[in-house]
Amino acid sequence: MDHEVIKPGKLSETCGVCGGFADDQPLAFLTCFALYALQHRGQESAGIAAGPGEGRKMWLKRGMGLVSDVFPESADLKGIVCRLAVGHVRYSYGEGGRSPENSQPLKLRYRHGELAVIHNGHLLNSGQLREELESQGAIFQTDTDSELLAHMVARQGSSDLEQALCEVVPRLKGAFAFIVTDGHKVIGLRDGYGFRPLSVASLDGGGYFMASETCAFDTIGAEFMRDIEPGEMVILDEEGMHSRQVIENPCSKLCIFEYIYFARPDSNLQGENVHLVRRELGRQLAREHPVKADIVSGVPDSSIAAASGFAEEAGLPYEMGLVKNRYIGRTFIKPTQKMRDEGVDIKLNPVKKIVEGQRVVLVDDSIVRGTTSVKLIKIMRRAGAREVHLRISAPPVKGSCYYGIDIPDAHELIAYNRPEEEIPAVTGADSVGYLSLDKTVEAVGLPAGRLCRACFSGEYPLL
Ligand code: SF4
Repeated sequence: MDHEVIKPGKLSETCGVCGGFADDQPLAFLTCFALYALQHRGQESAGIAAGPGEGRKMWLKRGMGLVSDVFPESADLKGIVCRLAVGHVRYSYGEGGRSPENSQPLKLRYRHGELAVIHNGHLLNSGQLREELESQGAIFQTDTDSELLAHMVARQGSSDLEQALCEVVPRLKGAFAFIVTDGHKVIGLRDGYGFRPLSVASLDGGGYFMASETCAFDTIGAEFMRDIEPGEMVILDEEGMHSRQVIENPCSKLCIFEYIYFARPDSNLQGENVHLVRRELGRQLAREHPVKADIVSGVPDSSIAAASGFAEEAGLPYEMGLVKNRYIGRTFIKPTQKMRDEGVDIKLNPVKKIVEGQRVVLVDDSIVRGTTSVKLIKIMRRAGAREVHLRISAPPVKGSCYYGIDIPDAHELIAYNRPEEEIPAVTGADSVGYLSLDKTVEAVGLPAGRLCRACFSGEYPLL
């Protein structure tokens, strides 16, 4: 029997990271709860490193699966003596990406002690850096950028982690949010464009905590302080928190898909609440692409807010036309090709009594290959919908992503080299309307220059 992976019809995030420093706090336990809050960013593996433990060594546990699989008895983590901890949830893609050895944190011994490294993102020059290190005799055990960074740090003369990172980080090209610890400090850093999010909070009772999303802070009762800036390094240690700029000429380009799809609705990114942005995306969509219809439904879960905004603006009732089975993960046992092809049917089910005989506006947050949309339209029609009008709360995805988001090659994208007028025929919808890029940015509420929009616009920073 095959153990198959659902090829995401959606885009996928690459990871969630978190970590903190505090005296007299159950930090490993808090980190575990923060990971629960970040679970939507990766379900392939989870792990925590905490230290310094008994014998001054760092404690590490990581494994494949959800946070609850790896830490079934999270209360046990309260007993781990530590003053710092880092945690990671992973989404992997590419060959070898699902190997257990790629789960993080990665813990290594080097001449100055121990290092634990976690990251979210993708280094564009990892191939070149790896070759360079291998030619000097380095042996890699994983495919991760975390291991690459650890090797680079280990080669620096300085025993001071902060100093070593200052030497190394300017050589990294790409999108990254790293958290690194040597058992003395926890250091978080973002690339010079800030593609991937990372924020810092204060812990009730003293100490600080960093995380990919602010929803993790709420879960552990931490108070959000600020986003870590592009190119900035934030250091947490026994003296408190301080920071320094390690990459010159930074310029903010947070991934706009964090607002559209990836981030949790209760998170705030650059001061904007994700749920409210999504609702506004829906309102803008209703203004740009009105249609005569009876009801509005959203594709659960990430499109519900946009659908409710659409309904509100259009003056139509919002109805739950689709229900999602939340207990099917990315990986499950599927015996036949037919079942593989019907992945969406397994996850989403229409509410027949609601859609039967209705003209339905179906709001989704993106179309990637288009396979999900084709199945969704079929599902709605099979359930008796009279008309199905697909409305997308984002522009057409026309290009791949080089910054750590799992978007297929451009030629696999439904909107690649295809005019928008052809999309209804391909998906089987009565009509399709995408939100324009200008209105998408307007809904986010930040200047366009502060957002990466490259997979829509083709204007790739860094390339
Ligand atoms: Fe996000 Fe698209 Fe930019 Fe990738 S290319 S970082 S998915 S906006």
